[in-house]
Amino acid sequence: MTALLLGFSAALLAARGELAWAAACVLGSFAMDGLDGALARKFGVTSPFGAQLDSLADLCGFGVATPLLAYHWMNDAAPQYLIVPTCAILAASAMIRLARFNVQPKDTRYFSGLPAAVPPVILAGAIQLGVEPSAGYVGLIGGLAVLMVTTFPYAKIGRLVGLPWWVWPISVTAVIVSPMTACGLLSAVYVASGPVLWATERFRRDDPALVVDPPEAAPDTADPIDPIELSPGSHVRVAVVGAGFAGLGMAIRLKQLGIEDFVVLERADDVGGTWRDNVYPGAACDVPANLYSYSCAPDPGWTHTFPTQPEIQRYLRRCVAQFGLEPHLRLGHDVLAAEWNDDSTRWCVDTSKGQLTADLVVIASGPLSEPATPSIPGLEQFTGVTVHSANWVPSHDLKGKHVAVIGTGASAVQFIPEIQPDVARFYVFQRTPPWVIPRWDRTKSGVEKALFRRLPSMQRLARAVVYLWRESLILGLTVNTRMLKPVEWLARSHLRRQVSDPALRAALTPDYALGCKRLILSNDYFPAITRDNVELVTSGIDEVRRHSIVSADRTERVVDMIIFGTGFESAHSPIAGRLRGRNGRLLADIWHDTGAEAYLGTAIAGYPNLFMLLGPNTISGQNSTLLTMEAQVEYVIDALRFMDQAGVAAVEVRAEAQASFVVDVRRKMTGTVWLSGCRSWYLDDRGRNTTLWPGFTRSFRQRTGRFDHESYVLRGRDSKPLDSPPAETAH
Ligand code: NAP
Repeated sequence: MTALLLGFSAALLAARGELAWAAACVLGSFAMDGLDGALARKFGVTSPFGAQLDSLADLCGFGVATPLLAYHWMNDAAPQYLIVPTCAILAASAMIRLARFNVQPKDTRYFSGLPAAVPPVILAGAIQLGVEPSAGYVGLIGGLAVLMVTTFPYAKIGRLVGLPWWVWPISVTAVIVSPMTACGLLSAVYVASGPVLWATERFRRDDPALVVDPPEAAPDTADPIDPIELSPGSHVRVAVVGAGFAGLGMAIRLKQLGIEDFVVLERADDVGGTWRDNVYPGAACDVPANLYSYSCAPDPGWTHTFPTQPEIQRYLRRCVAQFGLEPHLRLGHDVLAAEWNDDSTRWCVDTSKGQLTADLVVIASGPLSEPATPSIPGLEQFTGVTVHSANWVPSHDLKGKHVAVIGTGASAVQFIPEIQPDVARFYVFQRTPPWVIPRWDRTKSGVEKALFRRLPSMQRLARAVVYLWRESLILGLTVNTRMLKPVEWLARSHLRRQVSDPALRAALTPDYALGCKRLILSNDYFPAITRDNVELVTSGIDEVRRHSIVSADRTERVVDMIIFGTGFESAHSPIAGRLRGRNGRLLADIWHDTGAEAYLGTAIAGYPNLFMLLGPNTISGQNSTLLTMEAQVEYVIDALRFMDQAGVAAVEVRAEAQASFVVDVRRKMTGTVWLSGCRSWYLDDRGRNTTLWPGFTRSFRQRTGRFDHESYVLRGRDSKPLDSPPAETAH
């Protein structure tokens, strides 16, 4: 209430021209709003106003204060030196609110500060540029329209009153045509929907609190996790396959929502997935740590901007302890096959240590789990050591050896500088040079860590800044590659500064569009390549002999060891060869014919009650993939909730929904930099990008923001299709 009163006071003060006080009230409103959220979380209370209060603060602050500021500007009622800083304060407040993105409970995701910052920025910009007030006002209305369109909780209100989606564009048009009437009506519905939704949901479902405080972080431990075996004939509600970032993320959310009846099947003896396996020297993540962590488990203790493999692995182990996941882990249980049984509406899962049945299976085996080793003529007769970066054994002794590396992708660029000082002779076989930009890494100071520990919102702000910077790259990757020119300039000057030899520099200069392959961050790769013991070989490999590699120019180089930095079988998901759906068909066979396809990258027609995390077209090419993965996790949770409420035993995505999603993705993919002609692990054998999501991560979160049961065939316990879920459970 205080937040609301302060918001309205801000509007009134602004109307009277007392802009400094108005700005103070706006800030106070946000502070109270934040405090309200913090207290609600602390005491586990959900406010009847919930998101509505948040958004009303937005509307008061930005939707009301900004037009009033514009009014003063147009009528010369307040000096420019007051209006512009007030706009700046408004925009900054909006951005601070944005820092809360992605830690919000699911239903309030639609409210971010970014659109809210647009109107005051437009206004301040118009004043500074000396734009005619009338023209500036048109821009301002455009900005407000952005705010309305992007922050309105369509899904929530649509769900409440059962209106079809097209009502909202019409409403927005009405706002533009007759602003006062339409705004009044919409605001009334909007505000009223808070308590009504709260009341109806409270009685309708037994829904655990959406915002759950993570338990205290657990201390680091290197002790092995105690193995737990499957009990014979066991049945679970959910079987998660894979205990990497995605599988553990799923487990955490199940746990948080009080669902205990699940297991996580993991073929290895530890959690961590790709971060457990990739222990090669220098392994690290190129997404800053603040963003490369679960949104529900921020870690103030990261030691560097970019987390190293051991740190990430420790983080995941800590999450296992912190969220109490050990009892659910079934380590050393390789999933050999899983088959859907229509009669029992269950999955029957065969593991290397026994069988179980599950109502629902979540595949979280990840796209980077199977190392890809090229078939090079004569490789089998090589008598030296061969190793793939993903199977690195830390005890490899490289001192004084002649070593060859095949591949110069993200992994190789990380381990080449680490290995180079040790070896006698180092041959780097490069097929395609990568685009490399500087890696702005630094050790985090104690002050920074203490600040993040005491004021978690500061860490969320840091996370938001990284998120925004990375998200902005999508425009260059998908809309107009010319926007990536500054990044290309940065990469070229990085190469120029680090490599002085023109011939070597030419060999290291890519001839394809930047962004077509994954952009690489490194400060020590080029310097390592210039060292005397390193030879960059660009002529391709003809054959491998017992002790040597022969390149296409027929030069033979004697080597003791070959390291494959040749990436992963991402386009041929091995798990697809183990999943049999409703008609007994292997997913691998279907995907062999069609290419990897899934609805929202998550559900597959013919495979009821099966969801795939980080499935086809879900990886973010510009941002942390954990963002899309978490969106999928929420989608699965929503599906579970829906099934419980509606008494639905099986959900299977409709083939036409999947087909139309795939067509949409392909259309969006056309003209993107990823299809501009380079070879990359994003593309399948047909040259289609079946890996990346062609858009903002936010748009993916919106698409998966609600389990859209209309796109699914629903079946009851008798496995007969239900026409529609019972009306009172309409979701
Ligand atoms: P990658 O990016 O797919 O690179 C594979 C490299 O091997 C490329 O240089 C490729 O050359 C080369 N190659 C493949 N087959 C070859 C052959 N038959 N002959 C010669 N060269 C061959 O694999 P990666 O470096 O392991 O990285 C895979 C992905 O893992 C990354 O894109 C990234 O998403 C992830 N990763 C992330 C991080 C991180 O910091 N977050 C670190 C490591 C890995 P071409 O370019 O000519 O195909």
